[in-house]
Amino acid sequence: MPNLFEKQDILNFSDSTLSDWFKTNKIAPYHLKQIKKWIYVKNSKSFYEMTDISKKNREILESFFCIGSLETIKIRKSKDGSKKYLFKLKDSNLIESVLIPEKNHYTLCISSQAGCAQGCRFCQTAKLGLVRNLSKAEIISQIIDIKADLKEHKRLTNLVFMGMGEPLANLSNLILALNTIIDSNEGLCFSKRRVTVSTCGIVSNFQKLAQNTEARLAVSLNAADNKIRDMLMPINKKYPIETLIDACKNYPLKPRDRITFEYVLLKDINDSENDAKKLIKLLKEVKGKVNLIPFNNHFKSEFEAPNLDTVLQFQKILSDNNITAIIRNSKGSDVSAACGQLAANCL
Ligand code: SAH
Repeated sequence: MPNLFEKQDILNFSDSTLSDWFKTNKIAPYHLKQIKKWIYVKNSKSFYEMTDISKKNREILESFFCIGSLETIKIRKSKDGSKKYLFKLKDSNLIESVLIPEKNHYTLCISSQAGCAQGCRFCQTAKLGLVRNLSKAEIISQIIDIKADLKEHKRLTNLVFMGMGEPLANLSNLILALNTIIDSNEGLCFSKRRVTVSTCGIVSNFQKLAQNTEARLAVSLNAADNKIRDMLMPINKKYPIETLIDACKNYPLKPRDRITFEYVLLKDINDSENDAKKLIKLLKEVKGKVNLIPFNNHFKSEFEAPNLDTVLQFQKILSDNNITAIIRNSKGSDVSAACGQLAANCL
């Protein structure tokens, strides 16, 4: 039986819900800003530390709420400097996040679900199936806890929803989380231009995402041909490539913005000259750019990465046809922290 007196994680609630709760509990509204500063800027985990709030109010808050819900189980450091965090949720399920050092900043790759229901054939997370959606608190706690662990002066400025799970299959919690992540009013203060939501293409949720946040959109295209995409990504049977590209064309973008198309390069599957030509045709009228990700191997995988020459040739064909294409060699593969390698299995 659920414990009715279990404390609620305050990170789960939006500002407006908290404001209403403050009113009901006769706590002055201006305290919300102070509490947010304690949580998001000072990494506070207890209301008792919030010395600019009266003792009585701190006690009321402490009796209803807790702050944060993740337990760090393991941190693995890669030779290239990236770090994979394994977190345990309150119900003992496991999730992973990956911190990637760049030249002048950090990028953090976070999870939106434990496991994933999408069944993409090249992805290790898919093998877990869906365990469950993450709450807003579980999504943003990954950022808060990893930020607290940073020792260098380099700042964590970039965030990608490319960890475990399909963000658009957990849309309402994703939107709640994004509103705190991009909130400059004592929230986590990420710039909207530096937060990217990556989707396998759940087209029915594109407009709702656009209406509720200004985060950037990345689409895991991975094939320019329905037959190949059907084989790689089951979602393609529901939303075939033409439907997906139409939804991208209709996605509201600011003048400087573009959609990122991710394309996992798989040897002899989607890496030929003909595949590149089909991709060019497809992306002709879309405001987009391409990230080419050579396949990251994992245990018992049926796929392989193409050799470097093939990758460079594929990129050249796109570039020669005025499509910006960047090769993204995923970091952290030695500790299974690269794209598609997250399996939360303690190894
Ligand atoms: N569900 C979301 C986000 C998670 S996957 C999505 O599909 O976009 C993040 C990216 O990693 C996707 O672009 C996916 O195509 C890519 N990816 C998955 N497995 C991979 C692998 N083994 N090697 C390289 N990239 C992979």
